Amino acid sequence: MLKRVLLFFLFDFLITMMVVAKAAIPWGFWGHRHINYYAVFCLPEAMLPLFKTNVDYLTRHAVDADQRRYLLAEEAARHYIDLDHYENELGEVCLPQNWKTACDSFSMDTLKAHGIVPFQVYWSYLHLQKMFEAHDVNGVLKAAADLGHYVGDAHVPLHTTSNYNGQKTGQKGIHAFWESRIPELSGEQYLNFVPAVNYIDDPQSFIWEAVLESHRLLDTVFLMEMVVRERLGEEELYTIAKKGQSLQRVINPVYARAYEDAMHGMVERRYRSAIHALSSLWYTAWVNAGQPTLPFEKVNIVADTLLLTQDSTLVLPGHAE
Ligand SMILES: [Zn+2]
Repeated sequence: MLKRVLLFFLFDFLITMMVVAKAAIPWGFWGHRHINYYAVFCLPEAMLPLFKTNVDYLTRHAVDADQRRYLLAEEAARHYIDLDHYENELGEVCLPQNWKTACDSFSMDTLKAHGIVPFQVYWSYLHLQKMFEAHDVNGVLKAAADLGHYVGDAHVPLHTTSNYNGQKTGQKGIHAFWESRIPELSGEQYLNFVPAVNYIDDPQSFIWEAVLESHRLLDTVFLMEMVVRERLGEEELYTIAKKGQSLQRVINPVYARAYEDAMHGMVERRYRSAIHALSSLWYTAWVNAGQPTLPFEKVNIVADTLLLTQDSTLVLPGHAE
């Protein structure tokens, strides 16, 4: 009997681990969707007819880019960048912001092997501007939703290092802890409304500054997790919680709260910065496209057939989270 009980717990534990691993999507669904949702309400009135009318679309499709990783080999590299690969002995990042110049310095293969999120955010921004210029309403919404996803990823410090899951520093699991577990526990208390949009003179530099700021925060991300873990002791780190129909081993809320406090609310600050950056980029693309009049039109975009054929058994290249 005891053997059967143990087997049952082992099986349940394995299932739980599988569910947790699969759920460890950047910013979690919660983060990406909330960033796209709240960015809409920062926009000036002239943009609201289209964006507010389709806020459901922008929210639901905030994670399309992650789903594409199962289908397109080149998609994975768009979600992160290993900036540590480009650091000199002083810890300064030596990577040109211009794609062509960067390719000349390091080769395109090297760039793709270490992730390209800042380049991708800029390309997505340019694509959105093009969709505004073409008055392509469906194209604008698709591009705006995807831009939101990449902007969200660019604001997560752990998307800017090859030690993306703490695997090099004995902190395995820190990725999902920072971007999924903490928002899951505290996200509803976060301040969602951020300052009104800014027009961005130089979108490329602005995007790079956001990514570099994420990278600068890594010291705190790693150090504070170690400090808090040591202070609370290993036995305080996990607890069992009911999720749906099953019991799951999850990070203890006490530990999560202590980590968040030790980082002085960094997760909330990055979340709010992402909302502000996204709405400002949407706005700038629209201004640079000549401020086209946007219709009150609820679009009905047919789902991307690629996404419908998603095969989750595929092994993802690049960072697993
Ligand atoms: Zn992503």
